[in-house]
Amino acid sequence: MNGEVMALEMRERCERCAWPLEPVDDTAYICSYECTFCATCANVLNGICPNCGGELVRRPRRPRKQADTASSEE
Ligand SMILES: [Zn+2]
Ligand SMILES: [Zn+2]
Repeated sequence: MNGEVMALEMRERCERCAWPLEPVDDTAYICSYECTFCATCANVLNGICPNCGGELVRRPRRPRKQADTASSEE
């Protein structure tokens, strides 16, 4: 009997390797359905969620203004 029960509670660890991902961890990746993976697995998976085929994007750690090379300054 090899019944593995995968309880989906808080997404605080990688779904692939169970690597702990803290809410403040900026190296976590999520897909459109909030499947969570670590940066290593996201890289191995080529940025594609194996569960739903969605694109893995970097999980925002906290809201901040978009200030990455914005050339529309006055
Ligand atoms: Zn992982
Ligand atoms: Zn997914």
